[in-house]
Amino acid sequence: MSAPGGQEINVLVKALAAHIKRAAESGAGGATAPGDPPVQSAPVGAGAGKSTAESCKVCGRSLLHDGQRGAKVISEEDWYGLHEGDDLYADRTKIEREVKEFIAKVPEVTRQNHLEQGIPLTQLLTGPLRKRNDKNREMIAKFEARRDAVAQAKDSKCAFLPEPPNDIYRVLTRTQKKRNLAEWDLIRAELEDASELSVGASVIYRVPQSAGPCPASALNLIPETKLSKKCAELWTKLSASQQDAEDRWDSGGF
Ligand SMILES: [Zn+2]
Repeated sequence: MSAPGGQEINVLVKALAAHIKRAAESGAGGATAPGDPPVQSAPVGAGAGKSTAESCKVCGRSLLHDGQRGAKVISEEDWYGLHEGDDLYADRTKIEREVKEFIAKVPEVTRQNHLEQGIPLTQLLTGPLRKRNDKNREMIAKFEARRDAVAQAKDSKCAFLPEPPNDIYRVLTRTQKKRNLAEWDLIRAELEDASELSVGASVIYRVPQSAGPCPASALNLIPETKLSKKCAELWTKLSASQQDAEDRWDSGGF
């Protein structure tokens, strides 16, 4: 009943622990030696609220990673936009009423023609109402795909969703995202050099890279080659939903 990629994860856990130790010893990235008291440095960005100097609770580093500093922490539900349905369904009801009124004004002959040819009556819509109707349907389809993918991931044994202490999602700016990826690239290169990770191996991140995970912890990694057929199918859905959520956060959030 072990999580997918158990063996690889054990190797990664050891390799990453060694990486953190080396980083701490060399003082790279402002890390201190394990056991040192937490460093109280000034908050990043005045009035940034939660973004005061914090440790990384996932790998135990005494400061947050470069790409995480100042980033707002949000829940998994919020990151995947799982509350968006409330507004979308309310809009749906309103739009459907308007669509009905619109179609009622179309001449009976035209309506009959459409029905006889099997053309949906919504094809009669024009202008802004047509756009709103199409957009609302598209958004609902995406919302439902995200909601279902996350629910299925929770119910499955694929272990795609993060567990404490790794279950931290952040809203990252493009710069923060780049920094987080840069740190992971370095760590990855180190792991590949040491043959602890196959070169170019596909890796699943439980907290998506765009949500600012700890780049130095194996808790966030699953080697993709180890997935069962069922988990691979679920991953296809969940990764599409992660991409959708990422795109939404890039364009201002939900
Ligand atoms: Zn960390």
